[in-house]
Amino acid sequence: MAGPSLGRVDEPLVDPHGRTVRDLRISVTDRCNLRCSYCMPEEGMRWLPREDLLSFEELERVARVCIERFGFTGLRLTGGEPTLRAHLPVLVDRLARLGDGSHDLALTTNGTTLGLLVDDLAAAGLRRVTISLDTLRPDRFVALARRDRLDQVLEGVDAALAAGLRPVKLNVVVVRGVNDDEIIDLARFGRERGATVRFIEWMPLDGGHTWGADRVVPSAEVLAAIGAVWPLEALPRGSAPAARWRYADGAGEVGVVGSVTEPFCSSCDRIRLSAEGMLRACLFAHREADLRAVLRAGGGDDAVADALRAEVGTKWAGHAIGNVSFLQPDRAMSQIGG
Ligand code: SAM
Ligand code: SF4
Repeated sequence: MAGPSLGRVDEPLVDPHGRTVRDLRISVTDRCNLRCSYCMPEEGMRWLPREDLLSFEELERVARVCIERFGFTGLRLTGGEPTLRAHLPVLVDRLARLGDGSHDLALTTNGTTLGLLVDDLAAAGLRRVTISLDTLRPDRFVALARRDRLDQVLEGVDAALAAGLRPVKLNVVVVRGVNDDEIIDLARFGRERGATVRFIEWMPLDGGHTWGADRVVPSAEVLAAIGAVWPLEALPRGSAPAARWRYADGAGEVGVVGSVTEPFCSSCDRIRLSAEGMLRACLFAHREADLRAVLRAGGGDDAVADALRAEVGTKWAGHAIGNVSFLQPDRAMSQIGG
């Protein structure tokens, strides 16, 4: 049963490699209204039946144990496309009230519905938003996302800025031959809007299994291209996946997420909960724990805490993309919660 918020922290959750886990990524749905080619095939995704999704009560309970027992400092809602989950602001409101309310509460979204939802989300306690924006060209957006929604995404970016969410981050997955000629245009867009663009290396987590190492654009190449136009200065990184840089002329920040060529596993502080309640210690893990079974068997907060502790105990030192032993997990990014 969900109890009162106590703001109590009993113990940090430390993995076998000495990393303290403080950040929970919560997928609230595996469904999506786009079909980004680097993420999922155009057809053939099988969505979870609705009754398999964790309820808001169940999600709140897991988050509460993470925050009040293990001192987590961050929650991020993702998917699939999280804004497709009905009544999302209600969940945001519940999660914002946990503990002493000091935790970070963020959302990763494709932006298509933000124009309609962002005010309600901000009022409910959302702190930050990250919006995916892989191209500024309408024809390319249709080819890449297989839906004609660029205008709505751009409206969503403006709506997030107008709602006062800060920072607004823009995620760009750079794929060779697809959008690598837009790096400067996208960086300029971020500079002009006051949004932090983060260029992400394409990871072997796509549902269509079309990933190829030759189509990964290394972060170093992205930084060199941007730095040649606007000089950059490195910023401290912390546990965030993005290496952060500031524009020397003061026009804000830009980041690169070099998951493939420069893995940041040694500072990873997160675990993930899939929409149907599977707990994963790493995006690339081949195992997961069935937290929904624990919740629906009537397990109390101690049982949830035990499951979290046990799964964090399996967190490996790092993935091995590029190694002959690397195996793409069965689940795609959209099914885990990116
Ligand atoms: N639908 C939302 C969105 O697109 O922002 C949230 C879920 S999406 C899986 C989360 C992030 O993962 C997005 O920024 C997306 O571009 C990125 N992503 C998806 N598949 C990826 C892949 N194979 N490699 C790297 N990033 C990926
Ligand atoms: Fe949907 Fe996000 Fe995957 Fe694109 S990246 S298909 S928006 S889940």
